[in-house]
Order: sequence, then C-alpha cells, then structure tokens
Amino acid sequence: MSRDKKYAAEVGDELKSLYPDGECMLKYEGEPWRLLCMAILSAQCTDARVNLVSEGLFSAYPDVYAMADADEGDIEELIRSCGLWRAKAASIKGSCRRIADVYGGEVPSGMDELLSLPGVGRKIANLIRGDVFGLPGVVADTHCIRIASRLGFTEKGEKDPLRTEKALDAVVEPSEQSAFCHRLVMFGRDVCTARSPKCGECAMKEKGLCEGEIIKN
Ligand code: SF4
Repeated sequence: MSRDKKYAAEVGDELKSLYPDGECMLKYEGEPWRLLCMAILSAQCTDARVNLVSEGLFSAYPDVYAMADADEGDIEELIRSCGLWRAKAASIKGSCRRIADVYGGEVPSGMDELLSLPGVGRKIANLIRGDVFGLPGVVADTHCIRIASRLGFTEKGEKDPLRTEKALDAVVEPSEQSAFCHRLVMFGRDVCTARSPKCGECAMKEKGLCEGEIIKN
C-alpha cells in the first residue's frame, strides 16, 4: 500500500494536535556534537537513561576535542548503564576524533560526511540534519518503522529502515519531516505501542486515518 501527500498531511496535523512540540527528547543543550554522542548512546536504550548518563559524560568531557582525546575505557565506564558500551564508546570517541581532525571540530551537515563517522548510520545522520541544520530528514527508528507500516505508508509488516525512510520522504513535506518523526516516537510510546496498540482510544482511528486493526509486525 502507498499513501499520498494529502494523507501524510492529515496524519501530520493529527500528530501535531496531539504533540504540539515535535522536538527531540534528547537534551543536547543545542550542541550538535552532544546530539551525535547521545544518538549513538540511544541504541537499545531509553532517552531518559541517555539524558542521565550524558550528564556525567559531558561533565567529564565538555567538548568534542576532550571527547576525541578521552581514554576509551573511561568512556565505557561512564556509559555502561546504556548497554552496548564497548561499541558505543568506540563510536563516540571515533566520531569526535574525526570531527576534530577532519571537520575542524564542527559536526558536518552532508549525508556522506555524517555517514563517514563511526557508528553513524542514516537514522542518526537524518536526526542531525533535521534537528541541527533544519534539513529534511526522516528518522526511521523502531517507532517510525512500525507506525509507518500500520498507517499504510509502507507494506504490512515492513521492517526495513531505508524503505520506510524513502516512503515517508516521498509524501511528508520536507520542512515537516523532522517534527513528524519526533511526534511519531511520542505517539508510538503513548498509543501505537509495539505490543498492544490502544486502537480503541486512538485519534487516528477516530479520524478515519487508520482502521485500527492490530497488526503483528
Ligand atoms: S488505530 Fe491502532 S494501529 Fe492505527 S495508529 Fe491507532 S493505535 Fe496504531
């Protein structure tokens, strides 16, 4: 099934009325390199945990150069409660090292440049592009992938992030993509949850935007 721009705009309007602030839940204090580190930390971890752990991490390493020079084992200790700490510490240090050495200490905006940073895939790159640079970017995280499928933007049971990204990119207004995805995350936590979506009390169903069938993704 595919959806058109009109349908995407209606879903976007509904999400906007549910969640007026379509903002990132990660508290990165307006510092792009922090958002990058926090996005790396957020894999299989809650935003609340990432926000908590990041306080200690950024107090120990307050800028991108300090993080680039940090002892990887020390980063591991600080981020251990986020899980996958070895890989995440290597990615955080490696990304900051490259930002310091190649990009003059500034997080780049280009997709290819972002993808050249260790631990950065399209999800994080699009998050950075949207939140930091105001560029179009569909952040195809687990909530986005699941709900895009349930709403019919992608095939039933679609699990592929790139196909989801492309399907939404084709119909969601470029200027709305970042907020649209942040709102999908909130909606996915509150209502259209993975295991037991609350279809009976869902505004999308009420407005005729979703049939509300429970789909086993
Ligand atoms: S009706 Fe159910 S499946 Fe459809 S968006 Fe709402 S909670 Fe999700």
